Amino acid sequence: MANLSNCQCSCGETRFSIVGPPLLRAYCHCNICQSFNQAPFADITLFHTKNVIKPADNHIQFKSHKFPPVLKRGHCSHCGDGAIEYLNVPVMPEVVIVPSAMIQDKAFTPKPCLHMFYDKRVNDIQDSLPKHSGYLKSELAFGQKVLMALLSKNKKA
Ligand SMILES: [Zn+2]
Ligand SMILES: [Zn+2]
Repeated sequence: MANLSNCQCSCGETRFSIVGPPLLRAYCHCNICQSFNQAPFADITLFHTKNVIKPADNHIQFKSHKFPPVLKRGHCSHCGDGAIEYLNVPVMPEVVIVPSAMIQDKAFTPKPCLHMFYDKRVNDIQDSLPKHSGYLKSELAFGQKVLMALLSKNKKA
C-alpha cells in the first residue's frame, strides 16, 4: 500500500496530503455525520495526526458541534464539502478523520471495518460488516478499533 496520497474536496480549494498509512476506515450513520457529509452516512478514514499535513485553516470553516465535544469538524469554506475532522480524546494521540471521498488515490483507502450508529441509518446496508447501534455500543466498538490500530501502528514504527 502506498504511503502518500493527496486529498481534495470537490471544488479543489481544500487540499492536503497524507504521508503515512491509514489507521482504519468505517461507516458512521449518526445524524451529525449525515448532515456534515450531506449523505445518508459517512465513509471515513482515520489517520494518525503525524501522518497528515494539515490544510491551511483559511480554506476550512470549523463548526463546533455540541456532541460529541471532542470532535472538531471542518468544511471547505468554498464548496461546503466535509473536509477534515480532528478527534481529540484525552490520553489518546490526536486522530485525524478524513471523508474517504477526499482521498484521491483509492488504492490508499483500506476496507471499512464496521458500521456505527446503525440505528440512525437512512437505508439498510447489505454487507457482512459488523453493525453497531446506539451511542455507547457504537462509541465503544469504534474506540476499540481506533485504539487497536494506534497500538499496532506504534509497535511497527
Ligand atoms: Zn457520525
Ligand atoms: Zn471545496
